[in-house]
Amino acid sequence: MPVDVFPWQTEQWRALLARRDRLPHALLFSGRQGIGKIDFVRKFAQSLACETPAADGAACGNCQSCRWFATNSHPDYREILPEAMRQTESDTAESPGEAEGPAGKRKPSQEIRIDDVRDLQDFIFLTSHQRHGKTIVFYPAETLNVNAANALLKNLEEPPAGTRFMLVSHRPSELPATIHSRCQKIALSTPATEVAAQWLRARGIAEPALSLAQTGNAPLLALSLNDDDFWRQRKALLNGLAQHEPEMLALAEQLRDIHPARLLGWLQRWSYDLLRLRSGGSVRYNPDYQKPLAQIAGRLRAIDLARYHRLLLREQRSVNHPLNARLYLEQLLLGYAAVMRGESVPVAR
Ligand SMILES: [Zn+2]
Repeated sequence: MPVDVFPWQTEQWRALLARRDRLPHALLFSGRQGIGKIDFVRKFAQSLACETPAADGAACGNCQSCRWFATNSHPDYREILPEAMRQTESDTAESPGEAEGPAGKRKPSQEIRIDDVRDLQDFIFLTSHQRHGKTIVFYPAETLNVNAANALLKNLEEPPAGTRFMLVSHRPSELPATIHSRCQKIALSTPATEVAAQWLRARGIAEPALSLAQTGNAPLLALSLNDDDFWRQRKALLNGLAQHEPEMLALAEQLRDIHPARLLGWLQRWSYDLLRLRSGGSVRYNPDYQKPLAQIAGRLRAIDLARYHRLLLREQRSVNHPLNARLYLEQLLLGYAAVMRGESVPVAR
């Protein structure tokens, strides 16, 4: 059986396969987290390496090359991930992973570092095992730190023969312009609600609407939320936010085990919903909190909300390596309480 992609990817899959022989040496795949970008890219790389692809260009799933892909051992294929993600890589890990090192050891890096790129040079200059060339995937590409990005840039500027680069990014705007300019861009689409809901129902999710609203229709992310912790923590936070005078320090204590990236995501979606309501739109992410959201939006100043939302978006950059996770959490929540009291938001550090 030739490999296949998620139903919402079919059209882009066919279009890309149709030009598989006319590809540039560097591609940048972007799209919302949790829509299956890395799965798509793996299958595409597998198809390019396949010995006997199907008529439409998709990998056969049977040849030696495809068997190597099935066991993650293809000698001409490499995936470069931040150290922290190497155990749990998927399109749904709160990017990058939440892993913490064992006590006493340094935490695994959340970035793709220059050594990770340097280590590739041997791989790049070795002859390919097969005649279809080599593929190197960077995921998520926005985690390349400055030095690593510069090292990669050298390869993109003087592309080594027989090697193609595929960058996969949830947030391509965080990549340097110099990298952008050397990649051909492919924006992978987010599925329509009904397509995503159908896919989730087939996987046993009886009521997919709320999970999809939470994730902006990202089906893989929605599927990964199918755990009690997520919904319990979300409820604790949103109930707290919905209070007239939220007790933020008590709330921070209650939520101390939440990963900051998860908390920030919830706050971003909450403030986004408030902004939408304030400007006459409807709730997008938290339909189950429609009523308290509408009450809060009605009494806040649009300018304060907009400022707080921008602040939360800026926090995205530091959320994976806060100096002190607890303090970070408290600051996010205290900022919200300040907006609720009609005070101006503390300016970002
Ligand atoms: Zn094959």
